[in-house]
Amino acid sequence: MGRFAPSPTGDLHLGSLYAAAASYLDARAHGGRWLIRLEDLDRPRERPGAAARILRTLEAFGFEWDGEVVRQSDRGPLYAAALDALRRAGRTFECSCSRLDLADAPRYPGSCRSGPLRRGRPTAVRLRVEPGIVRFTDRIQGPGARDVAATAGDLVIRRRDGIVSYLLAVVVDDAAQGVTDVVRGADLIEHTPAQRHLQELLGLPAPRYAHVPVLTEPDGAKLAKSARSLALDAREPQGPLLRALDLLGLPVGEQPLPAGLPEIWDWAIRRWDPERVPKRPALPVRG
Ligand code: GLU
Repeated sequence: MGRFAPSPTGDLHLGSLYAAAASYLDARAHGGRWLIRLEDLDRPRERPGAAARILRTLEAFGFEWDGEVVRQSDRGPLYAAALDALRRAGRTFECSCSRLDLADAPRYPGSCRSGPLRRGRPTAVRLRVEPGIVRFTDRIQGPGARDVAATAGDLVIRRRDGIVSYLLAVVVDDAAQGVTDVVRGADLIEHTPAQRHLQELLGLPAPRYAHVPVLTEPDGAKLAKSARSLALDAREPQGPLLRALDLLGLPVGEQPLPAGLPEIWDWAIRRWDPERVPKRPALPVRG
């Protein structure tokens, strides 16, 4: 079972189509189900109308998802239960540090481990992360290992504004929804060790991970200033879809290529081979 989990903070562009297509092809090629989860917990960053536009665009591009679209904003009790379990196990502490307090720290220095330093301030909940190497194998990028305590330190699992953090929500949801294969952009690979660590603490099964490269401008900069970064046009799905499939290593030069969208998807599902996805964290695109 796979999933695509967009945050409604903007419209889909070629880079998001690329990650969504990889996850979709991977699930369907294994005869698996594929879910959509709107990661809409960060209300302050949400753009009005983006969630509806994302779903319309995915539909126009021929994605067919299983079941109802899940919204994280409807799942507060699930996250609260996970927070509670960690709290009861003595794995958390309240932290009063602001972003400014920590601006110069390469990682969280443990300031509030024995109680919030500044009384009367709103607090975040942090996970007490003990030293130790977390290992995982990525199906595309290869083996990874990270000492979360040494690199990030104690992780925020509920923010000072009360919002449950992405890290916790994603881990709880992937397990609750039975996701076995996480296929997503390599910009998220840095969060994978922390997610593996949380899964272990919560006694949740670990999904397999495959991180596809992040598409960039030809000079390596974030997709930003060209047609490549524009919101996908739902009226013209075929060009960008074939582009994304080509960048995923599918033989789109093959002739004759099928004509309609459903036929293109069938063709691509039959040919999906994660071995052909470029094994690199970033992939510059031209044109
Ligand atoms: N919602 C996250 C994002 O849009 C993706 C979460 C995930 O795939 O784990 O960046």
